[in-house]
Amino acid sequence: MENKLDGNAAAGVLQEIFPFDMTLVQATCIGCGVTKEIGATATYMHGMGTIIRCPSCDTVLIRVAPAKGRIFLDLRGVRVLQIKTGA
Ligand SMILES: [Zn+2]
Repeated sequence: MENKLDGNAAAGVLQEIFPFDMTLVQATCIGCGVTKEIGATATYMHGMGTIIRCPSCDTVLIRVAPAKGRIFLDLRGVRVLQIKTGA
């Protein structure tokens, strides 16, 4: 049972891990090469955690799964993360 949400929901989950505004971070998909802001991805929340998918080709970009007092962060679908530093 999956619950589809927009990328801003994903950003909320990732905000627990990363100290910068994740809605503005851009991820390049390993499947199709498209680069999108995390806030523009498709996000699915279910019992196992959060799955962030490429809006173009549906590749799983990021999985976030809290378990056993840890957060398992799987970035296998991301070729590059672009993080604005403001500099
Ligand atoms: Zn893609």
